[in-house]
Amino acid sequence: MSEATGKRRIYIFDTTLRDGEQAPGCSMNHQEKLLVAEQLELLKVDIIEAGFAAASPGDFESVRAVAQLVRNAAVASLSRSLPQDIDASWQAVREARQPYIHTFLATSPLHMQYKLKMNPEQVYEQAVAMVRYARNLCPRVEFSLEDASRSERDFIYRVVEGVIAAGAEAVNIPDTVGYAMPDQFAALIRDIRNHVPNVDRARISVHCHNDLGLGVANSLAAILAGAGQVECTINGIGERAGNAAMEEIVMSMRTRPDVFADIACEVDTTRIYNASRCVVNVTGSRLQPNKAIVGENAFAHEAGIHQHGVMANARTYEIMTPESIGIPRNSMVLGKHSGRHAFETRLADLGFHFEPEKIKDLFAQFKLLADRKKKVSDADIEALARGIQRRADDIVKLDRFVVTSGNTITSTCMVRLLKDGHPVEGVAPGDGPISAAFTAINQILGIQLELEGFQLGAVTGGEDAQGEATVRVRHDGRLYNGHGLSTDVVEASIRAYLSAINTLLVETTETGGTAHETH
Ligand code: MN
Repeated sequence: MSEATGKRRIYIFDTTLRDGEQAPGCSMNHQEKLLVAEQLELLKVDIIEAGFAAASPGDFESVRAVAQLVRNAAVASLSRSLPQDIDASWQAVREARQPYIHTFLATSPLHMQYKLKMNPEQVYEQAVAMVRYARNLCPRVEFSLEDASRSERDFIYRVVEGVIAAGAEAVNIPDTVGYAMPDQFAALIRDIRNHVPNVDRARISVHCHNDLGLGVANSLAAILAGAGQVECTINGIGERAGNAAMEEIVMSMRTRPDVFADIACEVDTTRIYNASRCVVNVTGSRLQPNKAIVGENAFAHEAGIHQHGVMANARTYEIMTPESIGIPRNSMVLGKHSGRHAFETRLADLGFHFEPEKIKDLFAQFKLLADRKKKVSDADIEALARGIQRRADDIVKLDRFVVTSGNTITSTCMVRLLKDGHPVEGVAPGDGPISAAFTAINQILGIQLELEGFQLGAVTGGEDAQGEATVRVRHDGRLYNGHGLSTDVVEASIRAYLSAINTLLVETTETGGTAHETH
């Protein structure tokens, strides 16, 4: 209970950087994680789960960097219930203002028998021992009963009681596989509150997955049943169908104060839109247009009768305003009178980080664009910014390419590049023209890249819209993004691929090798 208002405070535990990052196509590099962490801080979430420190040296370094950066939120690292994992988490978060260790162990019969190969007694003992172990290192500890929604009630009560007695400040009841139904899940939370004698000494947390599209519904039902914390991600990214979307949970509570009358939540909703764009830009994982709250169409009114109603009085068809999540009503974010500072702030909000030199270039391009177009939208700024991520000092440039493709022949691509100014060329076949082009580039440069993500789309509407390609490649365990713009989709793809390669080449030249994650 918050003393000032008499309201029950709901903690927002954001796991965009951990569960979200584990999603296919959503992995983030070190710098990208810091950009997202800044957005989470601005949103005023209570706890930022920054990663899984024991997973790899790279993950460890990222968690540590987030811990050093964040000022207000607690910074958590996930750990299996093993001393070495908990030690790694502690080392990674100990410099945070509020370090937080999150440890977990599965409690469902299925997981205990097949995954852990442990009996319930062993699971109970290890859970309690590891919470105690973590508490000896860190004042704030959370324990998760993995697959709780498929665990037996009496065992749940026992484990919850045990870990609270061992010092856990929060006990998480995850719907790990997205199996729960809202009323059943609410009943589970209510039962835990009624059957665990020391339950008032800890927050009950929930962590809902979206396999049946119920992640948010289950989270809200749990809040009404007495849960004091929800674990969620920006844009609902996460493993498989994703996690409960933070913006949907928060805006549900905000939009329905009648239902959530006794609930308080500290999130600054006016930062939602920026945070959402930032996550889209760093992961390259686009949103479905009809995504609730942050999708492109969430506030768009196409039907004439709706437009008329909204113009007469926005409340006719809008249950919340675009401004409440930080979208300016007129969608004109910046114009030709906008100053450099406003532009820089906007870039950072959208998830871009550049050295001053690049910002100067980019600002000049923005001014040119603002002269031509009255309205410069976020999409335009994002495209400009992604374009300039190609370095001026590109080591490899596209000179020319020729593709032959069709439904009755094997696609082939001839590519000629300029490498340090010298022409180098090659030809390769492929499943399609883009695959042939990428293979040819790999052969010319003699590098092996794993393609982690590839997307093609139009920057803005209209016939003259430029095609934009986004690629994400992995080399030597590290991720590199590339973006390419062109009215030709094959060319946009080649440019995107080369921009990722240039980032890779510049980085390995600067550091004198590829041995990065060695800490
Ligand atoms: Mn999860």
